[in-house]
Amino acid sequence: MNDNHYNTIIIGAGPAGLSAGIYASRAKLKTLILNEGTVGGQLVLTHEIANYPGVKSTSGYMLGNSMKEQAESFGCEIRANLRITNMDLSGEIKRIEVNGKDEYTGDAIILAPGGRSRSLGVPGEDEFKGKGISYCATCDGDFFQDKEIIVVGGGNSALEEAVSLTKYARKVTIVHQFDHFQAFPHAIEEASQNSRIDFIMESRITEFTGEEKLQSVKIENLNTGEITHRKIDGVFIFIGYIPNTEFLNGKVNLNEWGEIPVNDLLETNIKGVYAAGDCIPKKFRQVTTAVADGTIAALSAADFIHNHRKEELLEV
Ligand SMILES: Cc1cc2nc3c(=O)[nH]c(=O)nc-3n(C[C@H](O)[C@H](O)[C@H](O)COP(=O)(O)OP(=O)(O)OC[C@H]3O[C@@H](n4cnc5c(N)ncnc54)[C@H](O)[C@@H]3O)c2cc1C
Repeated sequence: MNDNHYNTIIIGAGPAGLSAGIYASRAKLKTLILNEGTVGGQLVLTHEIANYPGVKSTSGYMLGNSMKEQAESFGCEIRANLRITNMDLSGEIKRIEVNGKDEYTGDAIILAPGGRSRSLGVPGEDEFKGKGISYCATCDGDFFQDKEIIVVGGGNSALEEAVSLTKYARKVTIVHQFDHFQAFPHAIEEASQNSRIDFIMESRITEFTGEEKLQSVKIENLNTGEITHRKIDGVFIFIGYIPNTEFLNGKVNLNEWGEIPVNDLLETNIKGVYAAGDCIPKKFRQVTTAVADGTIAALSAADFIHNHRKEELLEV
């Protein structure tokens, strides 16, 4: 086999991919991680991580960097800031083309491309991500003790997370574009009965403003067009989640939401191809759940490769 052949190729260097890299390299598999963006994935968007067991508080960047160094210390190779331009996962040897020219081959592939929260796409949103704007109540709710916050959205996630955020925030205002919610009746009832929650219906945020941190928002009334300015400590946006799986269309089975269906061993519908982290169907998307998936996928891939090798030895 040539230098570009690996036992395991992992796509994505977020917590799931890096954990898979640690486990696969430690299992003495020649392992390569290919990553489109910055190593660390969504971790690098996270100002502070305070719920990763054993690490009281750190920045997402630091945690991602330690995972990267740990993977490399076991011999895992990591290539970042690249683009996967083609792939053939169907054969026994899987082929991945990068940047339209380099080809890597692998015995097993672990797909860990993560995902992204759907954003509002209005001015100031990118600037204040992690500085007052959040897409994860479990992750960031605790930073808003006694503060005044807005929740954007009208589905189950928005209403359930708004209720959970009242454990921390003094006041939660739900801003929703329609005159009714799309959530289940019990979620609507629970939010409506919570004295810390109020509602601004048929309205949308049109701009986020502040200096170092988010300080205020502009809200447009969709009936009258009237714009109001509102001082606010934080905004949580729950308007949907998009797995980064567009590049896998037609290569591996995806469900109607673009997630990669897997079994308990995190096997996809293709032999030797696994998926881990935020790209698979699940309710809770956290660093801990992603690293658990990375572990399972790498150990499953290691089992697959060892059994596969045994078969090859028996054939000789
Ligand atoms: C603002 C914010 C705050 C958060 N705070 C917390 C928190 O406090 N605690 C917590 O537990 N969780 C938190 N989370 C959630 C947590 O970050 C994610 O659940 C976790 O990062 C998912 O890991 P992952 O490896 O599955 O995916 P990701 O972290 O999304 O990593 C996927 C990687 O794959 C790469 N990739 C994507 N497509 C391709 C492709 N085609 N080819 C190659 N590479 C590709 C991406 O560039 C990325 O590097 C937060 C998330 C956000 C957005």
